[in-house]
Amino acid sequence: MNILVCIKQVPDTTEVKLDPKTGTLIRDGIPSIINPDDKAGIEEAIKIKEQIGATITVLTMGPPQAKNALKEALAMGVDRAILLTDRAFAGADTLATSKTIAGAIKNIQHDLIIAGRQAIDGDTAQVGPQIANHLGIPSITYVEKMKVEGDSITVNRAFEDGYQVIKARMPVLITTLKEMNSPRYMKVSRIYDCMSEDNIETWGLKDIEVNIEEIGLKGSPTKVKKSFTKGVKAKGTLHDVDEKEAALLIVNSLKEKFILTEAKA
Ligand SMILES: Cc1cc2nc3c(=O)[nH]c(=O)nc-3n(C[C@H](O)[C@H](O)[C@H](O)COP(=O)(O)OP(=O)(O)OC[C@H]3O[C@@H](n4cnc5c(N)ncnc54)[C@H](O)[C@@H]3O)c2cc1C
Repeated sequence: MNILVCIKQVPDTTEVKLDPKTGTLIRDGIPSIINPDDKAGIEEAIKIKEQIGATITVLTMGPPQAKNALKEALAMGVDRAILLTDRAFAGADTLATSKTIAGAIKNIQHDLIIAGRQAIDGDTAQVGPQIANHLGIPSITYVEKMKVEGDSITVNRAFEDGYQVIKARMPVLITTLKEMNSPRYMKVSRIYDCMSEDNIETWGLKDIEVNIEEIGLKGSPTKVKKSFTKGVKAKGTLHDVDEKEAALLIVNSLKEKFILTEAKA
């Protein structure tokens, strides 16, 4: 069986802080990591490989430094790594990104495609389902548990208050949640070899099946016009009141913000 995992290298947004004086983001020294939902996908793929055997390919579209994410995946235990990089891919929104990735996947054997639910930088959760759509295969999002049997996969798809069990015949694309497992650390025996760049295939426009008009900035129906930092929160107010009044104040202010609503009779 062939598993393809789409991974994105992202800035560790949990480390991004706000400068309280200027209100701008402090990005210096922010490490780049494998997007957490994608790392869970790598872990699930390796588990399947250990249980029933599989060849795992990881794929990322990004600048040359995204190779580090691929090297980490190789050191964790995947078999093949592809970096999609080309000037023609730059400036892409989610539609153009997913078309580029799908164009590459057309040239890679796959039964199961795994993407993360969402990237912690772009935060749109669009790319996975869009890739499936371009390939004409089904997608199942928010997967929190999965099992492969024969040519099908059975998953638990998470909801706020429960889950749905779905069985699908492969090829299928699923999107994974970081909560589904604890990804293993890189294998010590593989770290040295995998840090050598020779292990990574670099693909450009000529290696993928796509119409150039549909990718990059030209192929993006959306454009980011402006980006700015959200203002620092206003100072709180101090009230010198007893417990009962304090409780009322809290309840009323939660109601004003529609965080609390009256229970229906
Ligand atoms: C309106 C708009 C305009 C944009 N303009 C630009 C721009 O001008 N320049 C620019 O550099 N970026 C731009 N971006 C960002 C770029 O489109 C996104 O980084 C990219 O499309 C992925 O979207 P996301 O981060 O929301 O991923 P999500 O949809 O949240 O990611 C879901 C999953 O898809 C997979 N995935 C996502 N991206 C990749 C990838 N690159 N490689 C492999 N797998 C991936 C991962 O498995 C990930 O977990 C723009 C985004 C938007 C919304």
